[in-house]
Amino acid sequence: MLKVENILKKQHYALFGHSATKICRWTKKSLVDEDFCYKEKFYGIKSHLCCQMTPWLSCQNECIHCWRPIELNFKKLKVIKIEDPKKIISSCIVSQKRLLTGFGGNSRINKKKFKEAQEPRHFAISLIGEPTLYPKLSELIKELRKQGKTSFLVTNGLLPEKLKELHEKNALPTQLYISLNYPNEKIFRKFTKNEGKDSWKKLNKSLSLLSQLPTRRVIRITLVKRLNAEDKMLKDYAKLIKKASPDFVEVKSYMAVGFSRKRLGYERMLSHEEVKEYAKKLLEVLDKYKFLDEKKESRVVLIGKDKSKRRIKEEKF
Ligand code: SF4
Repeated sequence: MLKVENILKKQHYALFGHSATKICRWTKKSLVDEDFCYKEKFYGIKSHLCCQMTPWLSCQNECIHCWRPIELNFKKLKVIKIEDPKKIISSCIVSQKRLLTGFGGNSRINKKKFKEAQEPRHFAISLIGEPTLYPKLSELIKELRKQGKTSFLVTNGLLPEKLKELHEKNALPTQLYISLNYPNEKIFRKFTKNEGKDSWKKLNKSLSLLSQLPTRRVIRITLVKRLNAEDKMLKDYAKLIKKASPDFVEVKSYMAVGFSRKRLGYERMLSHEEVKEYAKKLLEVLDKYKFLDEKKESRVVLIGKDKSKRRIKEEKF
């Protein structure tokens, strides 16, 4: 077996061909009523009902802030066969149950939540890798919807044709994110180590496309000190955000977790106050957007157009 899989297994990833799942630390915190993730606070999804997964382990980028072990060349991973979407979903649920079993014995566990967590109702398609590289992504999202589950899809936006396909096949996720950690091409190259000739152009095409997609649309900006959080970059961020016209923008600090610590470290994180300050300055160059919410523990601020659209309807969970 290749080294990559062994390392991921040691980190409690459950693998199924080119897909994987892993219990999120916020799911664990929620199960003992300690805390929940900022997406629960902002949008109302339930952290204890969340399945964090990816249908595709490898990615075109090697982002400097990534907590995943990107040094392990995932591109070397041989894909023997394209897994069936239904099988990926059921393997995620089976793995989630298995990974949670040990947790069930915890004396602080909230028994009601633990029982509910056996059947995840929300899929966070953002664990590792780039999900739009999975050829059957449309089928997977449609199958999740058919099973009454919500889905948040986070993409690096380098495959605009895939976003177009999701739309044409009526397979858009409940909430669609594009990661935008670069105000311009120079920072994009530095941040992602992506040498693809058209990559920046493709990202911009996805941003334009995002403005027309009939689903909840989010731009996420992860700030790293001394890299992409300068005041002189604000106008360029605003231009790209206007192009995408998202419902929400999440402005958050890079967090020194996982493998990113070797590349960046704690001193490159912004404090929550610094994140808030940057978001306020961004609002000055962005019309129609306003401050909506924040979560200090996650060093994240939410800005958006319409406060009333924030929460996802309860009956969906
Ligand atoms: S939405 Fe994300 S952060 Fe929240 S519980 Fe799910 S995987 Fe974790």
